[in-house]
Amino acid sequence: MIETKGRSCKGKRGYPTSTAADTQRRDLIARGGVRLATYRCRHCKRWHVGHLPKPRRTR
Ligand SMILES: [Zn+2]
Repeated sequence: MIETKGRSCKGKRGYPTSTAADTQRRDLIARGGVRLATYRCRHCKRWHVGHLPKPRRTR
């Protein structure tokens, strides 16, 4: 399996727990009113806050 090194989380802030990430997520949503999600990163094993992944459409 080929993985690009740290591509998805470079420059992103990582949180050790989902609770910490969720706190940040709520703060960002309160500021910008955007839809965000917390997810665990498989690269750094931390939690990130990011935009919701777009659903993959099947034709
Ligand atoms: Zn990461």
